[in-house]
Amino acid sequence: MSKVVINTSENYRYDRVLDCVNEIFKQLGGIESIVKPGMRVAIKPNLLTSKKPDAAATTHPAVVKAVITLVQQAGGIVTIVESPGGPFTTSMLKMVYANTGMEEVANETGAELNFDLRVEKVINEDAKFVKSLSILKPLKDADLIINIAKLKTHGMMVYTGAVKNMFGSIAGLEKANFHLRFSDYDQFAHSLIDIFLASKPQLNIIDGIIAMEGDGPGSGVPKYIGALIASEDAFACDYTALKVINVDYKKVPVMRLAEERGLLNIDDIEIMGANIEDISPESFEVPALKHIRESFRFSLLRVFGDNLRPRPKILHEKCITCGKCMQVCPPKAISPDESKRMIIDYKKCISCFCCHEFCPEHAIKIKKRFISRFLEYKKK
Ligand code: SF4
Ligand code: SF4
Repeated sequence: MSKVVINTSENYRYDRVLDCVNEIFKQLGGIESIVKPGMRVAIKPNLLTSKKPDAAATTHPAVVKAVITLVQQAGGIVTIVESPGGPFTTSMLKMVYANTGMEEVANETGAELNFDLRVEKVINEDAKFVKSLSILKPLKDADLIINIAKLKTHGMMVYTGAVKNMFGSIAGLEKANFHLRFSDYDQFAHSLIDIFLASKPQLNIIDGIIAMEGDGPGSGVPKYIGALIASEDAFACDYTALKVINVDYKKVPVMRLAEERGLLNIDDIEIMGANIEDISPESFEVPALKHIRESFRFSLLRVFGDNLRPRPKILHEKCITCGKCMQVCPPKAISPDESKRMIIDYKKCISCFCCHEFCPEHAIKIKKRFISRFLEYKKK
């Protein structure tokens, strides 16, 4: 039976978050049952990009600090490890750690910030597609990984939580290769599961105190839920988070495929702590659900293929031509035209939405295709 604990904290005031995390650990059997003195513990937050905590795009520093404090009390030696989007360089890491509040957490707790850029090969026995891969060396070397994800929507994968957060164990722009190799959404979801299995964190916590709805994972709107969700089983943890935001887990490719692969058994999950009904928001906007629902409803994906997929559109009036989208686009489908306006070559575009995820100006929108809009119109 996979235990999942939900506990509430009405805001990010540190003493409240600490109590909340402490109670979660108690209900999971005590932090001492997981962390032994002298263990090297890697904390893997979601530091998608260089954003302030209030944007709700990254794991809040108060949650990271609370977990670190309790792990240190149990004798663990902590390093904060993450590979954000974009190039995996020391200067990029410094900027991300500073803006997301991790630098302050490290200063206050004595935890280390990882600047080791090496990766190490892992043979992935349980994988379906990604049998061999290279993950961040400090994750490979850790005695224990604690995955502290953020509850957010995702333009491509519908939702991101515990399982998807471990995509950050792949170094920097190497992530683009996974988008290229697995441009089919289901294959990409399988690869995310495989990557998760390669590092397999022993404990997963989802920061849903302020989640992100709308255009997640980078440009959405902060949404109050007031809860942390934790489990040793990341699939059960995500299943519970999806229940909280009232999203059918089968609509999330990672979860549907995890169930098919026997990694998620919803009859074998015990949810403890706060009642889901008491914390569920009245609404939670998940834009990607609409595209997926339409695809299933009409079963036309095979007929129309990629023409049903939404695609990115650059809002030139907001674009500052910083070039970040060009840098992260896996098939190099974005380039400036003669007048320096960023243009997308849709023949190359694989609708991965990395550009949307990393645009600092929210200048890239996900647009439905004509055929989708037509089908929607016919439905009315
Ligand atoms: S990342 Fe956004 S602002 Fe920067 S060039 Fe691309 S569209 Fe423009
Ligand atoms: S243009 Fe954007 S959505 Fe298309 S492949 Fe590049 S990053 Fe992905």
